[in-house]
Amino acid sequence: MILPKANRLTPAQVREITAIAESFGCRIQPIVGAVRTIYAIVGDERDELMINRLEGLPYVERIDRIQSPFKLMDIRSDLATHRITIGGVTLGRKLLVIAGQCTIDPKNPNYFYETAQAVKEAGAQVLRGGVWKPRTNPYAFQGDDKSLDILLEASRRTGLPVDTEVMDEDQLKLALDAGVPMLQVGARNALNYSLLRRIGAAVAGRPTIVLLKRSLHMGTLHEFISAAEYIANFGNPNIILCPRGTAPALDGYRNHPDESIVPLLKERTWAPVVVDPSHSVGKAAYVPACALAAVAYGADGLCIESHVQPSKGIGDDPKQALTPAMLAVTIRLAREVWKLRRAVK
Ligand code: PEP
Ligand code: MN
Repeated sequence: MILPKANRLTPAQVREITAIAESFGCRIQPIVGAVRTIYAIVGDERDELMINRLEGLPYVERIDRIQSPFKLMDIRSDLATHRITIGGVTLGRKLLVIAGQCTIDPKNPNYFYETAQAVKEAGAQVLRGGVWKPRTNPYAFQGDDKSLDILLEASRRTGLPVDTEVMDEDQLKLALDAGVPMLQVGARNALNYSLLRRIGAAVAGRPTIVLLKRSLHMGTLHEFISAAEYIANFGNPNIILCPRGTAPALDGYRNHPDESIVPLLKERTWAPVVVDPSHSVGKAAYVPACALAAVAYGADGLCIESHVQPSKGIGDDPKQALTPAMLAVTIRLAREVWKLRRAVK
């Protein structure tokens, strides 16, 4: 990783480092942070001569050789000062709450518009809504392109930025063309490396943020952070990690709640962590406690399913969506826990 003295290199300087890297069989990938751009050396970066030539350039501060499988997402990376901001919240400075329906019902858009307004009033800063859904049952509702318009209209009405899941390239293109600021990679796709690469390439050079869920089958933390590295190494480091429960389920919960991994992630990566308690426990009654525990464990934010009338919802909403009243209480308490945690830090 090449760290320039200035905040970024000039085009002529980029050409010079590229020529050096290429003569050693490597290439240069700029990683654009909020303030500073750093330049990853992609390939075998162990050649001492290449390092010396690069380090000898007058505009290079130093070369960082982090021996980590996730050089960019590593806590020791120079991206550790990178900050991600959405909905007026800079992650790490204030608790971020993403809330909204699991699934937008294209036949009943008013539920989504009402939910959007209600989650805003409850204190959420980002609106979530599933346009396309990964469903276990192939005959269950799979989502609908039309819901994208409903998502955008709700965003316009409330002023909230929106988050939705994309599962393939067509959806990725539709969402990006529509200007969706936060894309979700779902638990089922968190290990789909070709999709991660496509998303990485598509969001490079854009301000888009990716909310990367933890796969049901991810064991080691390194597997989770490496999935984020797949996206970051194309040039956009706006990635948020989202634990959402894993398999096997804990008897009574939908999954095995995993909010307790937050401190372990924080030791290894600078990436913000937003916990999804809804899919973790899978039942509205258990969601508030899981949300508060996540914040106590050090989460930077929460992603919570909520619906104005859960029983009228589709997808996960009848089971796990909080009513806006429950959401408001959960957010208020979560902010208290956030303050308490800061006080003991
Ligand atoms: C969702 O957010 O509605 C969803 C399907 O999440 P996950 O990928 O975590 O199951
Ligand atoms: Mn859901």
